[in-house]
Amino acid sequence: MRGRSKDMAKIAFVGLGNMGAPMAANLVKAGHRVIGYDATEAARQAAVTRGLTVAGTLAEALREAEAVVTMLPNGAIVRKVWAEIAQNLGVGTLAIDSSTIDVDSAVAVHELLAARGALTLDAPVSGGVGGAEAGTLTFMVGGSEAALEKGRAILEPMAGRIVPCGGAGAGQAAKICNNMALGISMIAACEAFALGEKLGLTHQALFDVLSTSSGQSWSVNSYCPVPGPVPNSPANRDYKPGFAAALMLKDLKLSQEAALARGVQTPLGAEAAQLYGIFEKLGHGGQDFSGIINFLRGKL
Ligand code: NAD
Repeated sequence: MRGRSKDMAKIAFVGLGNMGAPMAANLVKAGHRVIGYDATEAARQAAVTRGLTVAGTLAEALREAEAVVTMLPNGAIVRKVWAEIAQNLGVGTLAIDSSTIDVDSAVAVHELLAARGALTLDAPVSGGVGGAEAGTLTFMVGGSEAALEKGRAILEPMAGRIVPCGGAGAGQAAKICNNMALGISMIAACEAFALGEKLGLTHQALFDVLSTSSGQSWSVNSYCPVPGPVPNSPANRDYKPGFAAALMLKDLKLSQEAALARGVQTPLGAEAAQLYGIFEKLGHGGQDFSGIINFLRGKL
């Protein structure tokens, strides 16, 4: 890799939103030369306030870039932006998409860029805005070993953990399977607490049993949907996210599209998508996803 030292690169970072801006800032802190770009002036300005250098156009951000990272809202936008990037990409450039998108779009982007001689990774994340700020995101990575080897110096300053998942699209596949399980397990935890309340159990008593018995899950033990037992869970701050219900709905829909396309039965994933869909329609998409307990209690 060219650059100031073996591991430092000139990176174009596209999509400077809630996640992208702090991720790009961590690359700068690690010594990389980063030129950011976002379609909106407001995001570009906010990034400048953080100390990032931004370009006024995508083409300008891409000039002499040795690596390009994107952090964008959805698969359609990712396909469109990478089609534009592909026009300006040098052979051997590293291309990393960290957005959460459908597997088919991820694979299409890999194929488009591989045809241009780029090394490509799909590398969606979990850990939310807090993890993006702290540089502790988990990256689920799909792509060749050569691409991952080259990508580590870029992913590491943003990462707590990097999990190789397989070939093109495997990172996105792992992400949507994980989040489908998470959406289902959160609803299971909420149903248990809602029923426990009506049966006269205190939150703490039920937590003490669930969290140490066969009903345990990350949703109970680390992200408890009722206030008290896990002091830093969003339930203790009136369900301020955290991980917004609208983002959970997005990931559940991606899982259902994938299940339909592959002919896989995921009835609980489908039900979770339905419930989060109603929760969002009721105007609560901006709440933490554990706030769905109020809907299940019949309080919304
Ligand atoms: P965001 O909406 O805050 O940021 C997306 C940015 O992309 C915006 O600033 C937008 O202006 C920009 N953008 C849109 N179209 C563009 C284009 N054509 N060219 C350049 N910029 C463009 O979203 P976010 O919360 O930062 O999420 C980004 C991705 O990360 C999503 O795919 C999301 O599902 C995923 N994700 C988010 C979280 C989270 O907690 N926010 C957690 C894990 C994964």
